[in-house]
Amino acid sequence: MTNYDVLVIGAGFAGAVTAGELARRGGKRVLVLERRGHVGGNAYDRLDPFGVLIHQYGPHIFHTNDRRVFDYLSQYTAWNGYQHRVVANVPDESGKPHQRRQYPVPFNLTSLEEAFGEAEGKRLGEKLMAAYGAEKKVTILELRQNPDPEISALADYVYDHVFVRYTMKQWGQRPEDIDPNTTARVPIFLSRDDRYFQDQYQGLPTEGYTPIFEKILDHPNITVETDCDALERLTLADGAVCLDGERFDGPVIYTGQADELFGFRFGPLPYRTLDFEFETWVERVPGRLTPRGCVAMSEGDFYQTHGTVNYTVDRPYTRITEFKHMTLQELPGVTTIVKEFSKPYSAAPGEIPYYAIINAGNNALYAQYQAEAERYPGLYLLGRLAEYKYYNMDAIVGRALTLADELLGV
Ligand code: FAD
Ligand code: UDP
Repeated sequence: MTNYDVLVIGAGFAGAVTAGELARRGGKRVLVLERRGHVGGNAYDRLDPFGVLIHQYGPHIFHTNDRRVFDYLSQYTAWNGYQHRVVANVPDESGKPHQRRQYPVPFNLTSLEEAFGEAEGKRLGEKLMAAYGAEKKVTILELRQNPDPEISALADYVYDHVFVRYTMKQWGQRPEDIDPNTTARVPIFLSRDDRYFQDQYQGLPTEGYTPIFEKILDHPNITVETDCDALERLTLADGAVCLDGERFDGPVIYTGQADELFGFRFGPLPYRTLDFEFETWVERVPGRLTPRGCVAMSEGDFYQTHGTVNYTVDRPYTRITEFKHMTLQELPGVTTIVKEFSKPYSAAPGEIPYYAIINAGNNALYAQYQAEAERYPGLYLLGRLAEYKYYNMDAIVGRALTLADELLGV
């Protein structure tokens, strides 16, 4: 192992960015071990057999206010300027079967008018702005605390139509029983801005995410081994890390599950996983998209109106994403969508732990693993899995840059 100065486990954003920076800025020789057959972690994208650029592990929209993160990634990609817009798709309450309505999510001033009619929606919007201020974001849990009967009735409406059933599908729990920061990611927004994110920098990489990883990791000081489960080659004992039976004294940056690293000795950390169902629709009759021979409802080259449509009231899946809206790929007559079905992570073969379930009990369990990791002076837990946090891509890139600074003494 004397050939390498640093060992990185996982080639998602956490691992790739750290490896790239230590190699480029520090001249370090880095070995990256990745369990999957590709780099990119959950941000991995690829062309499907129909030539549609898809995100294999669910839709990834880059957004940040962190200038350093944006500038860093912009060395490796240009951006397509896509602004994410999401609608909630709900059954129409008129009782007509198959009749559905859509309104913007985060629920905003336009959503109010869609839900309650123009005049009533406007009046309610003004009332909310008088209470909280124009352009303000209010979480659903906060709105439900409002003592004004009209505002609290409105809060109940939004809770019922946007949050409760989607959250039950996604987490198996009600909004008030999960970490409040989770529903706070999608607040009620007292604005006409119907974008999902208001961050200064957002978009998708023009050529996709995977080339970013390939470029970051393409450096003479970096060796990447895919299809390699690091835990089959690592042993941790008495404060020392060994790789392939030899002691490794350099930094070890671990971006996998903390519980797995230590053989689940304090018990497994709970996660949610997702089943993704991809469907490709092709235009056989002009103006009609058809999946496997059925006639579709939508027209033209697109399956749905927006990049992501959330099913906040019914349907077994949480949301449907249509990649072409987001990637801006020009591909007439064919489109691929993905439906997301959430369930508890059971560690069955092939299952991926996508979401940490943040609560006091699970955080305390995680803290035991973290304390164990601290017994190894060169070991760093970094990333959404290793830190057991609900991090977006930009947060992970920012943390990786900071860890690289720290290791390089910057
Ligand atoms: P990962 O991407 O999970 O990478 C960890 C890597 O470590 C994996 O490749 C894994 O195979 C590897 N690994 C684990 N154990 C081992 C081992 N023993 N040996 C070798 N390799 C190992 N963020 C956004 O900013 N915008 C979005 O729109 C967005 N959408 C998302 C949608 C979904 C469905 C999900 C699940 C996440 C989304 N995210 C989004 C979050 C984003 O995926 C994460 O912030 C980011 O991928 C975290 O990077 P990471 O390197 O920490 O983890
Ligand atoms: N949420 C909801 N209805 C929606 C959108 C979000 O109830 O239409 C809640 C739900 O609990 C979800 C959380 O807000 O898990 C965070 O949503 P986000 O879109 O940020 O989730 P992610 O893209 O990370 O899965």
